[in-house]
Amino acid sequence: MIHLQENIDLTLLNTFGLQCTARYFVSIQKAEQLKALLELDFLQKETKLVLGGGSNLLFTKNIFDGLVIKNEIKGIEILKENDDHCWLKVGAGEGWHDFVLYCVKQQLGGVENLSLIPGSVGAAPMQNIGAYGAEVKDTIESVTAFEFEKGTFRDFPNQECAFGYRESYFKNEGKNRYFITHVCFKLSKRNHIIKTEYGAIKEFLTKMNINELSLKAVSDAVIAIRQSKLPDPAKIGNAGSFFKNPTITLEQYEILKQKHAAMPMFAVDALHVKVPAAWLIEQSGWKGKTFDKVGVHTQQALVLVNYGHGKGKDILELATKIQANVESNFGIKLNMEVNIV
Ligand SMILES: Cc1cc2nc3c(=O)[nH]c(=O)nc-3n(C[C@H](O)[C@H](O)[C@H](O)COP(=O)(O)OP(=O)(O)OC[C@H]3O[C@@H](n4cnc5c(N)ncnc54)[C@H](O)[C@@H]3O)c2cc1C
Repeated sequence: MIHLQENIDLTLLNTFGLQCTARYFVSIQKAEQLKALLELDFLQKETKLVLGGGSNLLFTKNIFDGLVIKNEIKGIEILKENDDHCWLKVGAGEGWHDFVLYCVKQQLGGVENLSLIPGSVGAAPMQNIGAYGAEVKDTIESVTAFEFEKGTFRDFPNQECAFGYRESYFKNEGKNRYFITHVCFKLSKRNHIIKTEYGAIKEFLTKMNINELSLKAVSDAVIAIRQSKLPDPAKIGNAGSFFKNPTITLEQYEILKQKHAAMPMFAVDALHVKVPAAWLIEQSGWKGKTFDKVGVHTQQALVLVNYGHGKGKDILELATKIQANVESNFGIKLNMEVNIV
């Protein structure tokens, strides 16, 4: 059964809290419903937007003149296991953080550093979510997706997902063509690779006198650090980092460093480095700036915020100004991480 609705307000379904009305709206609880949905001929040609938790979207118009398909496919199934690993098939509508907590509780390793990232499991491969030294691509075995045009399901093994830094096939060539219904993860059961090097995890564990490293200790540390640093979308509208950290050549970095001695970087390979976008934005004087109802967060220069009743087009305008200003100051182009709709 499909319950197709019309003119549905999406304000509470995106973490920026932006007002936008969906011309058509449907919730999908089972993958098979997608086939039935497309049997409704008039929907074939409608522009489609798959909606998870709405935590990486910027609605720039008051109306989405197409079909919003809300993903609510649940379920966690053990596909197989051996002494070392466990393979889980997870419904794309499961909450990401709930899934991480499930894994930590079951002593399954690989996603603990990605604790507290908002959104759904199905959106995780979209931009290869990452945080605190981990990326989801390292745990994904395959992705199952429904192709709107063909009306068929397809399995994408990890190598076919074209994962990169906040990138995947689904965010590029595959954009708006697929509904990811399930993600299959390969997680460790023992000999976990515990990552504590990145982003103050180690300091936190030392401060809390936690000597025994465990998946739970890392997850707890990441949760506490994130809660102390990032604005809670329930209190202030945002979509996390608005821009990606730009990659530049080592040569360009060395030249910039002569003028900006404090410019931080982290190595990508022998010839490239990443520069924190937050630093570039802060140095350009945008941190904490407000423009009527939108602005740049006071603590996090990478996070653009809606202080309430702001408009998506104002946030996009602000983002575009920041991009232009950073480029003119440093010759570095910032790319947006958030999906503009
Ligand atoms: C406070 C905060 C902190 C954040 N921190 C991080 C972080 O540390 N690291 C990080 O990587 N991201 C972070 N994000 C961004 C965001 O949480 C992730 O990108 C998340 O994966 C988005 O999930 P979602 O379900 O909300 O996706 P949505 O916002 O609903 O959708 C995002 C995009 O994916 C598409 N999409 C969603 N689900 C599917 C599906 N099932 N099939 C096909 N396409 C789909 C949508 O059409 C859209 O283009 C943060 C966001 C917030 C608000």
